[in-house]
Amino acid sequence: MTADRQRRHLVVRGVVQGVGFRPFVYTTAAELSLSGSVANDSSGVRIEIEGAPADLDEFARRLREHPPPLAVVESVDQSSVALRGGTGFRIADTTRDGGGRTLASPDVAICADCAAELADPTDRRYRHPFINCTNCGPRFTIIAELPYDRPSTSMADFPMCADCAAEYADPTNRRFHAQPIACPDCGPRLTYRGPSVPPAVADLAPHPTATPDGPPTGTDSTAHLITGPDQPLDSARNLLREGGILAVKGIGGYHLACDATNERAVATLRGRKRRGDKPFAVMVADLATARAIAEVDDTAAVLLTGPQRPIVLLARTALPSVAASDADSSVVCDRDTIDLAPSVAPRNPDLGVMLAYTPQHLLLFGLSGDRPGPRVLVMTSGNLGGEPICFDDEDARTRLAGLADGWLMHDRRILTPCDDSVVRLVDGAELPLRRSRGYAPLPLTLPVPVPPTLAVGADLKNTCAVGDGRYAWLSQHIGDMDDLATLRAFGSAAEHLAELTGVRPTQLVADAHPRYRSTTWARTHAAGRPVHTVQHHHAHIAAVMGEHGLGASETVTGIAFDGTGFGPDGAIWGGEVLAAGYKGYRRLAHLKYVPLAGGDVSVHRPYRMALAHLWSARLDWSDTIASVAACPADERAVLAHQFGSGFGCTPTSSMGRLFDAVSSLAGVRHTVDYEAQAAIELEARARGTDPGAHTYRFGLDHTADPAVIDPAPVVAAVVTDAAHGVPAGVIAARFHHAVAALVLDLALEFAPSPTTVALSGGVFQNALLLSAARTALRDNGFHVITHRRLPPNDGGLAFGQLLAAGAG
Ligand code: ZN
Ligand code: ZN
Ligand code: FE
Repeated sequence: MTADRQRRHLVVRGVVQGVGFRPFVYTTAAELSLSGSVANDSSGVRIEIEGAPADLDEFARRLREHPPPLAVVESVDQSSVALRGGTGFRIADTTRDGGGRTLASPDVAICADCAAELADPTDRRYRHPFINCTNCGPRFTIIAELPYDRPSTSMADFPMCADCAAEYADPTNRRFHAQPIACPDCGPRLTYRGPSVPPAVADLAPHPTATPDGPPTGTDSTAHLITGPDQPLDSARNLLREGGILAVKGIGGYHLACDATNERAVATLRGRKRRGDKPFAVMVADLATARAIAEVDDTAAVLLTGPQRPIVLLARTALPSVAASDADSSVVCDRDTIDLAPSVAPRNPDLGVMLAYTPQHLLLFGLSGDRPGPRVLVMTSGNLGGEPICFDDEDARTRLAGLADGWLMHDRRILTPCDDSVVRLVDGAELPLRRSRGYAPLPLTLPVPVPPTLAVGADLKNTCAVGDGRYAWLSQHIGDMDDLATLRAFGSAAEHLAELTGVRPTQLVADAHPRYRSTTWARTHAAGRPVHTVQHHHAHIAAVMGEHGLGASETVTGIAFDGTGFGPDGAIWGGEVLAAGYKGYRRLAHLKYVPLAGGDVSVHRPYRMALAHLWSARLDWSDTIASVAACPADERAVLAHQFGSGFGCTPTSSMGRLFDAVSSLAGVRHTVDYEAQAAIELEARARGTDPGAHTYRFGLDHTADPAVIDPAPVVAAVVTDAAHGVPAGVIAARFHHAVAALVLDLALEFAPSPTTVALSGGVFQNALLLSAARTALRDNGFHVITHRRLPPNDGGLAFGQLLAAGAG
């Protein structure tokens, strides 16, 4: 041993377990001829390394700068220790000490290497539905606790065979320490349960309860149980080809699948799920098929094929039948197009598209040599509308009994449910709409340290979050907190998140709405700990500030355009301009209050919001106005009385409700059966439509404090345009234009220069509006921050709550 040797102890923190970090350390040490050892513990990865100082430096550099693709290295701490000599490099067992915190990895889509082996007849994992490696496979959904090792996952039920054990123990193998390693000999197994005869005719009614003569379902005594290597998949494909509905157990729960080109199958699924008009997402096997149904640019291709594999909202491919009616029908389109069933996404120009992300999905589409199944599958969460996704087999058998004709199942337990994530693209960048599978539970950094805190979010599209110090972990998507099952799912998600992160919250933070179920949950689960509350739109603005790393003393001009949020004056806010920091806010301006009659009823019937805006603008309820015609005469009489007396009305400044009103006034949509449907269809009409020279303009009353934004001139202009037969698309385009112009006007009016303008709230899921508003602000020299990692809707609220409460 000489002075030119050193031994160092390194602690690597971040997402470093379950991502192939130890084999990477091993091979890096081997390349640099260093001796030592590596181990996982609850603080991350611990390394002892010995060799020449320059090589040790190089080793640390590679750890930081070139970690394995799925790793997120947050820090590498080094200290010198006494020389020990020795040769070779040892991978030690996992220990549970360390006292720190390691980070669980999200689930990862099947990698290219595994996909190649899956299709290779000479490979021992040929057609193995559970093939995975250190770079891919389930993680978050199979982990019971940390540190991440096979015994603490649901793969503990499957003892490794000798071959898998050898690969697992071989540092040069790409499955070295791949905890979910499996093969046809030792891995989980697929089974298929289904009717003995595939359903030739699917009925619209829920069955079997409502139609005793309907095809037998998986729980019937007549059902066939099919096992074996390929037969379950063959049977499942047969069922799909025949127009049946298949329950598929996947990574984070059950999906319901059917042939997306078969209108009868899709309509049946819609009927059984009581889904209304809400679009279904579809799954395809590869990018080429995605291009046959939707417009896929380079950014979309990267997102579709990335390790997260979210559902990406894409513009549908124009079908030949549509193109033929165009003026320029001489353009011959020879690209592959697939005609989807109208019921997949009624009246929606976008499609939610995802690529197969598990080996089982790829096999379901069929490999070379298989009789192929449908090329495009509807893939929707296995649940009834609004309920949490099914992930427990027993529970699924009960809850999905009337929904599915056949069942493709496996015997690996899902420990944590996790829905698919949803993103859309705005100006070539990702805008998350639902952050869940593939993303949860990756941490986000907090620009301001917080004490151990649990934030419970809001009531729609909810997530919760825990924070401690500089880290925050957002849960997977939980859903709308309107039933007992979702509340229970919420409780388990919060508990599991605390378990995985080791955060023991000393305080809770909730929305200021006294009747939100999340707020009630926080109060009943506080166990003596303080429960702080944060105003809804303050939390939205804090969330986008936090995402952009703004410091504790920074302030922004926050524009929160939203559907609903409780205001301290008892009104429902949602068209807000706030001077905001983490610690507090001041309301600078808001959309003029209009009466919201009967709460949810008016959310479901946009024509009521149209009447409220007409009333507020002192415009007559003329029968020639589409919204007035859509409102039954007796309901109109009741509304007139309510608006006049204020009885049963809550004042609202909601921008989301103004979108509803305009959607109705333009004749686009008078009633909705899923959240934001009227606004989504209004955006769809506006897209690609030239608003022309005529513009709408909001009024602004500066004399009031806070100032009042008056939508009356816009509402009047919409009514006039509609009366003159201006097409709905043009009205929609003019309205979007007006709201974007309003954002700029508000910034010019209220943002002291230089300042940052922050845009948040559910209305900014609108790509057309977000893009136009952001461009207008930037063109006028403003620094604009918008969401890119968290959804602008309430799914990102918990993160803002952590910061608002933590800094307070
Ligand atoms: Zn792999
Ligand atoms: Zn095996
Ligand atoms: Fe909100």
